[in-house]
Amino acid sequence: MAIRNIITIGEEILRKKARHVDQIDDRILQLVEDMKDTLKESGNGIGLAAPQVGMLKRVFIVDLQDEKGMTVYINPEIIATEGVQIGPEGCLSVPGKSGDVERPAKIKIRAQNERGEYFEEEAEDLRAVCICHENDHLNGILFPDRVKGGLSDV
Ligand SMILES: [Zn+2]
Repeated sequence: MAIRNIITIGEEILRKKARHVDQIDDRILQLVEDMKDTLKESGNGIGLAAPQVGMLKRVFIVDLQDEKGMTVYINPEIIATEGVQIGPEGCLSVPGKSGDVERPAKIKIRAQNERGEYFEEEAEDLRAVCICHENDHLNGILFPDRVKGGLSDV
């Protein structure tokens, strides 16, 4: 078990575009395992993207602490969106802040799992929000960039 340090807003690396994972090798699998440990350790986090632990790789994980458990997305692409929802978001890299963000109501995502297999998933409600939020991290976008009506302290 290895907990990685979560980088917070202001660090340059959070603003860079993450790179495609060409090969899911031991280094990537170790990264994924460490991200799982780090997310669990965070207590209240529901998603974590590789740039948040200092790795510019197109990898994120989501765990809404429901029956779906932990899902790993490698080289994800949001291939369809539908509708709109607005709700409060927070981020482990933006501690103590929250704000309302507009997101699609539903999304469809295509990604690879840890074995390199492609899968597609449809998500809605909070799961869609979380996936969009984590996907933004791979493109150097943080939720405050999208906040409407300002950030508040939590
Ligand atoms: Zn975040």
